[in-house]
Amino acid sequence: NSYRLWSEAGEWLGEVAGKMLHEAGGRSDLPVVGDWVVARPRPGGDRAVVHRILARRTKFSRQGAGKRTSEQILAANVDCAFIVTSLNRDFNLRRIERYLTLTWDSGALPIILLNKADLCPQPARFITEVESVAPAVPIHAISALTGEGLGEILKYLAKGQTGVLLGSSGVGKSTLINSLSGGPRLRVAPIRESDGRGRHTTTSRQLVLLPGAGMIIDTPGLRELQLWQSEEGLDLSFRDIRSLAAGCRYGDCRHQSEPGCAVLEALDEGILPAERLESYRKLQK
Ligand code: GDP
Ligand code: ZN
Repeated sequence: NSYRLWSEAGEWLGEVAGKMLHEAGGRSDLPVVGDWVVARPRPGGDRAVVHRILARRTKFSRQGAGKRTSEQILAANVDCAFIVTSLNRDFNLRRIERYLTLTWDSGALPIILLNKADLCPQPARFITEVESVAPAVPIHAISALTGEGLGEILKYLAKGQTGVLLGSSGVGKSTLINSLSGGPRLRVAPIRESDGRGRHTTTSRQLVLLPGAGMIIDTPGLRELQLWQSEEGLDLSFRDIRSLAAGCRYGDCRHQSEPGCAVLEALDEGILPAERLESYRKLQK
């Protein structure tokens, strides 16, 4: 229920105005990390009230569980998404493709960072491979540890620009943020706020201001791909549909209205529940 706000005047603890809360139609009408807001400081203190969210230029979101239309926005106004992979173990073109898809969907500009260049004497081969799946996307071989290539990253993060790091655990995202922010990231004790019903919520710092440069959003929910429905996840979750699909007449059957579609046949026969096919289609989309 509370937010950290940054302004020219410093940092405030923000809360949403009652009217705004009342009029919110869903979670997406409330502030998320990266939002630019209109807020009014309370006199004599470090608190402010948020009255409005400015239009979001880009957003990373996922469909919330439960209610069909509840969109969960993970971050707003990200200008560039650094897709981080490491040049040793993590390297995986399919994964890069999926992060690219997510980034294009969000409206942010993708940049691919091949980290741990210090461990890889010949990055050129990898760069060529990545180019084949990411035409026109900037690719940089860097080392978060030695600092190689960090200047290139900062060029994308001028003042007022917001970046995000996407990538599997272990590729070096935290190390990179520490290097960019010029020191170990401050560990800030979460603020505890009682919501009046005895429960406690916590907020922790999710936006890192880089000295003399832009910002990086660092939230656990956004970092890793597992949190979205990945294609493997889709295959695993809908094995039944996948195996039915093996019986379709056409290899590229989309199970919409094609003749000889085994999936639609199973639907007609009541073997496959209509809701299941519907949610498969939705996730696939
Ligand atoms: P995260 O899970 O993506 O945040 O990854 P971390 O930042 O925690 O890094 C995982 C491990 O990789 C740590 O042991 C880092 O020291 C190491 N690491 C990160 N960047 C580099 C790099 O550029 N070169 C090398 N050799 N190791 C790195
Ligand atoms: Zn079919």
